[in-house]
Amino acid sequence: MATWSVGTISVTRVGEQIGFSSLPPEKYLVGFDRDLFARHMGWLVPNHYSPEHDRLITSVHSWLICTGQHTILLDCCAGNHKDRPGFARFHQLNTPWLDRLREAGAAPEDIDIVLCTHLHSDHVGWNTMLRDGRWVPTFPNARYLFSRTENEHGDPRHNPAANADLQRSNSYRDSVLPVIEAGQAELIDGTHDIGDAMLIEPAPGHTRGHIILKLDDRGEKAVLCGDAIHHPLQVYAPHWNSGFCELPEEARATRRRVLEHCAEHRALLFPIHFGAPHVAAIASAGDSFSLRFVEAKDG
Ligand SMILES: [Zn+2]
Repeated sequence: MATWSVGTISVTRVGEQIGFSSLPPEKYLVGFDRDLFARHMGWLVPNHYSPEHDRLITSVHSWLICTGQHTILLDCCAGNHKDRPGFARFHQLNTPWLDRLREAGAAPEDIDIVLCTHLHSDHVGWNTMLRDGRWVPTFPNARYLFSRTENEHGDPRHNPAANADLQRSNSYRDSVLPVIEAGQAELIDGTHDIGDAMLIEPAPGHTRGHIILKLDDRGEKAVLCGDAIHHPLQVYAPHWNSGFCELPEEARATRRRVLEHCAEHRALLFPIHFGAPHVAAIASAGDSFSLRFVEAKDG
C-alpha cells in the first residue's frame, strides 16, 4: 500500500486500474503538441506514456484519508459490474478494489464520509454495489458529499442533456440515485469545512460542479484535485484540457489556480489519474510549472 503523510493525516492510494488512456494523446489532451511532449519523454516512459502503443498511461484510484476524527474516501473509481457501453475500461469490471480498501486499513463500515469530486462514471462507481440484484450504498455508515450544482446538472430526471451524456446517465442511476434514495447524500454549496484541517472548494471546469479537497495540518498542505488535472504533462502545459472537460475556459483557469496554490504553499498534489508514483510537488517555472514526483513513505 502506498501512503503519504500530510501533518498527522495519512492519505493512502486505493487503486482500481492502471492502463492505457482510451484515446490517442491528441484527443485525450486538447491542444496537445508533439514538440513539448518530446521534450519530456525522458520521464514520461514507462509510467506515463507507452511509445509502443502511442498511448498515455493513466491510473484510476481513490484516496483514503484518515485523520483522528474521520475516515474519508475521496472518489470511488468505476466500480464492479456496472454497465458502461462505449467505455471499455469501465464496463462490467470485476476488480478486488474492496480487498485493497481493507488492505489500506478500512472496512466499508469504517468510512464515515465519501466525497465525490464530480459525478463522472470513473469517480462514483464504488458508491454502490450490487446486492440481491439491487444497487445499494457500499458504505452503510457514510455521509456522501456531492456538489449540489453537480447533482442538479447530472440528474437525467431534471436535465435532459445528462440523459444523452453516456459519462453520466447510467452512472447517475446506478451509483448516485441509490445513495440519495437511501438518505445518505448531503448536497453542498460553495466552500465546506470538514473538521479543522480539511476544506472543500468549488473548482469548476472539468465539470460545472467539480470540487476539490484541501488539507492543511501542522503546517503541511495537500490538494486532492480530482480531475482538475488528468495527466502530469498538463503541469508543463496547464492550458491543455482533457477531452472530457465540459467548460474549457473554466477548466484552464481552475487548473492554473490549483497549480499556483500548490507552488505557493508547497502543497502536495494528489490527482486521481496520475500514473506511479501518483503524487507530485509543484514549482512555478516562468509562465507554467514543473513537477517532482513524491514517493509514498512505505511504497
Ligand atoms: Zn476521471
